Amino acid sequence: MNDPVEESGDESSLKVAIIGGGVSGLTSAYCLINSSKSDSAETRPVEVTLFEASPVFGGMIQTEQRDGYLIEKGPDSFITSKPQAVNLCEDLGLAARLISTNEEYRRAHVVFRGKPVPVPADFTLVAPGRIGPVLKSPLISPSGKLRMGWEYFLPAKKDNHDESLASFVRRRFGAEALDRIVQPLVGGIYTSNPEKLSLQATMPRFLEMEQAHGSLLKAARFQRKQQVAQQSSESGARYGLFLSLRDGLGHLIDALVSAIRPHAVLHLNTAVERIEQIGAPTGFRVHASGRDPQNFDRILFTIPAYHVAALLRDVNGDLASELEEIPYASSAVVVSGYRLDQTEHPLDAFGVVVPAIENRKILAVSFSSRKFPNRAPKGRALLRTFVGGAMQPELFDLDDDTMRKVVRDELADLLGVHGEPELEEICRYPKSMPQYHVGHLDRVRKIEDLVAAIPGIEIAGNAFRGVGIPDAVLSGNQAAERILTKWILTGDS
Ligand SMILES: Cc1cc2nc3c(=O)[nH]c(=O)nc-3n(C[C@H](O)[C@H](O)[C@H](O)COP(=O)(O)OP(=O)(O)OC[C@H]3O[C@@H](n4cnc5c(N)ncnc54)[C@H](O)[C@@H]3O)c2cc1C
Repeated sequence: MNDPVEESGDESSLKVAIIGGGVSGLTSAYCLINSSKSDSAETRPVEVTLFEASPVFGGMIQTEQRDGYLIEKGPDSFITSKPQAVNLCEDLGLAARLISTNEEYRRAHVVFRGKPVPVPADFTLVAPGRIGPVLKSPLISPSGKLRMGWEYFLPAKKDNHDESLASFVRRRFGAEALDRIVQPLVGGIYTSNPEKLSLQATMPRFLEMEQAHGSLLKAARFQRKQQVAQQSSESGARYGLFLSLRDGLGHLIDALVSAIRPHAVLHLNTAVERIEQIGAPTGFRVHASGRDPQNFDRILFTIPAYHVAALLRDVNGDLASELEEIPYASSAVVVSGYRLDQTEHPLDAFGVVVPAIENRKILAVSFSSRKFPNRAPKGRALLRTFVGGAMQPELFDLDDDTMRKVVRDELADLLGVHGEPELEEICRYPKSMPQYHVGHLDRVRKIEDLVAAIPGIEIAGNAFRGVGIPDAVLSGNQAAERILTKWILTGDS
């Protein structure tokens, strides 16, 4: 006997199932709903049903207020050079709640022989903006500085084959720049092995700078001149490079859910366990925990690639195999609150990153309460210590007590933090960080072709063309738009 099938509303409407209630899934629901609310004659109603496995929306974005602290358990900000997240906030009426990072502490430290040392001013992740601050920095030896300055005279690479971050930085600036500055700075974002990380997939602008100017130092000099010219003709950028929300990024999730809820069916605690293809060319039956199976015209996946692979194995084995090949790393954030008089270090920066060659047990510490206002009560500091990642997977597996001890020891050693924290919490993100290895973009193109060949399926999220929140927002929007465009163009249902 067949299982009963849950029927949903209007026969003429397009029934879309969104799997995953993180920022990608919620954004795509928001986009679908807004577009179908527009009064275009071509649009028929869209019925959106969103399935979220956990008890809360937001996925990796989770904010909690406790004892006067505002705790970001996962991401704490987003970049504004990719405008999708800031545009979304503005669209949701959150513009007045956006906050920039605190100018007073806008710098980072890097651990050098066991102690935090400032990253040379104007260093932009992969390349120095100016050679002067590098020359003054104790981080690089005299011969290393000479090698970095030599970059100015090195010709650009001729071919445009994908290259690892490590290969690129060694080729342009030498091994010391990689080991002492670039690896820890990039590791703090991607938690990746630089020998494997694809530059083309993660930071293509540095390749473009090399191609356009022959040297990154020359490119930086050119950009500086342009900025000076721009600043004298404009009133300045509207926002800083990174933004958050006064009440934390969870506010973005709350606003999205409030905007979507009246127009969509939202299921929490409901993991999608199986997808069955039931019609041609489109038509799927979704089997989710605790619910009767339900039929949909479209399925939009916004969950990690390996989860999509498991659900699509029976629909298209080739696609599932490609998706499975995207590796993921696990990382943990240990959030701790201390009185300021418990730290010897002045915490005069946004945080400290730790090079792998220092052989320590943490990746980075973010000084949250220095980065943004109202993250800690007066006289207190909120620290977020990152553990694990692709380079130290064994540390992610530590049990809670050992991880707490490791973090306390590292904070004591690096920052002179002493005594018990008044707040401490471990937030674990297993298999959460997609690793864009060399060749990633070729795989993504293959995946996109395979997806395009299955009518009714769309995939979004941070596994493909960008790992940050703005990328997730963009991918959610684009997937929603593809659904609507194909529907309008083909008229199929
Ligand atoms: C520790 C950490 C710090 C970060 N810091 C930053 C930062 O500062 N700035 C930045 O821009 N980005 C940051 N990121 C990345 C950013 O958080 C992600 O790019 C973004 O949140 C991804 O959103 P998503 O919706 O694609 O995925 P997710 O947030 O992973 O959401 C997917 C959702 O799908 C659900 N799900 C999974 N399987 C199923 C199923 N079978 N059925 C139903 N639901 C399912 C999950 O429960 C989850 O809620 C950070 C990530 C981590 C882990």
